[in-house]
Amino acid sequence: MSTSTEGSMYGNGMFAGKKVLVLGVANNKSIAWAITESLSKEGATVCLTYLNEALEKRVRPLAESIGCTDVLPCDVQSDEELDNLFAELESRWGTIDCIVHSVAFADREDLQRPFSETSRAGFQLALDISAYSLVAVAGRAKKLMPEGGSIITMTYLGALRAIENYNVMGVAKAALESSVRYLAADLGASNIRVNAISAGPIKTLAASGIPQFKQLLAAFAEKAPLKRNVEQGDVAKTALYFLSDLSSGVTGEVTYVDCGYSITGT
Ligand code: NAP
Repeated sequence: MSTSTEGSMYGNGMFAGKKVLVLGVANNKSIAWAITESLSKEGATVCLTYLNEALEKRVRPLAESIGCTDVLPCDVQSDEELDNLFAELESRWGTIDCIVHSVAFADREDLQRPFSETSRAGFQLALDISAYSLVAVAGRAKKLMPEGGSIITMTYLGALRAIENYNVMGVAKAALESSVRYLAADLGASNIRVNAISAGPIKTLAASGIPQFKQLLAAFAEKAPLKRNVEQGDVAKTALYFLSDLSSGVTGEVTYVDCGYSITGT
């Protein structure tokens, strides 16, 4: 079964002339990278961000592989770096059409200890990077989307259900999903749509911090109606739908790209 965009209905330049900011490419396994590749194949101009100089070394070669020259620093915990990012984009591009927010972080220790022992600092850190950052990004994007735009973020079923080892990240994803609805309500009058994709488990750098992730993947494929794991390419296809005009009447939604797992009973 094809999960990439090759050989599909895509590839006709549906994003030609569109400018897209992508936050969250860590390496070639990142969900954000699969989305970036698909956007690039569709003719989009993309800006990638990196957290610090060490990580810049991983992001730049990926950017070069798709002819992307807009690679800028952004730690979403820093208001100053966010301000600089949007000021730079305004001077380079003038306006932005779409944003892919694919960023999350929690201290590994907070995913390993019982949830009731989550530290205050760990709770704040997870919520700041994984949820507040969407609000911080969307607020700054408004000015650069005078004719509207589309913003997407990545979430997980742990927002709704108490999934083993997901702990504080589940709370952060719940805040993220709620933020999607409030942002959609706030920015809708500006024709800016905000949606979330709830992906099934995928082996990436961020996922490697979740204890027993391998077992989670195996159990998932067994139980999911489509009898397989989700791949980055599955998420990228849905991302193109949300970022394009195909979803012009859709905002504030959380859409599951999980091979149907979330509909099953225990
Ligand atoms: P990933 O490749 O590790 O991407 C996570 C990204 O978040 C990385 O690029 C990371 O940057 C970035 N990040 C962390 N702290 C940051 C900060 N302070 N400022 C800016 N960026 C920061 O993993 P992924 O699985 O593709 O994750 C992308 C999104 O999908 C996350 O929101 C994740 O929760 C969500 N998601 C993943 C799965 C899954 O199973 N993989 C399922 C559902 C949802 P560095 O690596 O450079 O630190």
